[in-house]
Amino acid sequence: MLELRPNCEFCDKDLPPGAADARICSYECTFCAGCVEDELHNVCPNCGGGFEPRPIRPAKAWREGTGLAHDPPGANRRQLSYSREEVAALSEALRKVPPAER
Ligand SMILES: [Zn+2]
Ligand SMILES: [Zn+2]
Repeated sequence: MLELRPNCEFCDKDLPPGAADARICSYECTFCAGCVEDELHNVCPNCGGGFEPRPIRPAKAWREGTGLAHDPPGANRRQLSYSREEVAALSEALRKVPPAER
């Protein structure tokens, strides 16, 4: 199950479960749309993969055992462990390569 992490790893912006601007890579590394576009250029600094919009988990339990009350968002805030220079270097190396070819 998707962890629904609470913040952008780059700028620490809050990304609650309903955030339309949350982006994730295949490892669930989570960033805001602004950072993905302007800082990362669709290159995940942790894995080199591309990003997609994070799906929004319904607040209501439309089916038994689902919904935010049953499966609440994660509380563990994460922070990038690479320097801005390291992030920029990986982004520069990969930004022109489509995610499917990385
Ligand atoms: Zn951000
Ligand atoms: Zn990643």
